[in-house]
Amino acid sequence: MSESTLKDRIERVRQEIKEACERAGRSPKEVKLVAVSKRFPAERVEEAAHLGLNVFGENYVQEAVKKIDLLRSKGISLEWHLIGHLQKNKVKQAVRYFDWIETIDSIPLLEKVVYQASKINKTVNCLVQVNISKDPGKAGLHPEELRDFFIEALKRVGPSRVRLMGLMTITKYSPQPEGARPWFKALRLLRDELVGKFGGGLDLPHLSMGMSNDYSVAIEEGATIVRVGQAIFGPRPVQKTK
Ligand SMILES: *Cc1c(COP(=O)(O)O)cnc(C)c1O
Repeated sequence: MSESTLKDRIERVRQEIKEACERAGRSPKEVKLVAVSKRFPAERVEEAAHLGLNVFGENYVQEAVKKIDLLRSKGISLEWHLIGHLQKNKVKQAVRYFDWIETIDSIPLLEKVVYQASKINKTVNCLVQVNISKDPGKAGLHPEELRDFFIEALKRVGPSRVRLMGLMTITKYSPQPEGARPWFKALRLLRDELVGKFGGGLDLPHLSMGMSNDYSVAIEEGATIVRVGQAIFGPRPVQKTK
């Protein structure tokens, strides 16, 4: 097999997104591609940005801050999503550097995000992480906790510029993309049910689900955000980028 380039891989991912949208009768405009750059150096991000990608995802605040600063110093400004667990002592930096925080999983964490966002008057889009498969090894709220969570969350967010935009999930890795379909579907149904319960008081337009292995299936099941790393950047380096 000949070596594929970053450009080839981006084109292939875009094509697959388009085809999945066609199968689902959706518009590709409804799907945000988050290029997951964790452990890849800032130069790869820069290259991908030059090839037209403008939304990137990172798992670790420290690692992201360095890349974002480096890129900004070169005049490259991108949309950044935090997709890894957020520690409370990193909230201040996370709010400053990220446009989206996809991993809200508790009221105290949300309160800290609201506090820091208000201090610098910044709009932060948030997703609530759901452990849809109730995997003991995974972060996120369990489905039955969400109703009470949102009752409290809406009070805490109040008139701030923090926006609760939807739900995010990380499913168990399954070698067959189809293995994740029931979980993607469950997240969509859970969202629909929640929004129904709040009767107009809650809008959760976004579903962040699907990674390199299964984003096509996720899109068929309603994903509006897919988080794709290795299908874009190739195999991920083992070491964290310092
Ligand atoms: C690493 C990661 C991804 C991307 O994984 P790939 O398999 O490289 O596409 C997506 N979401 C989260 C939460 C991740 O940690």
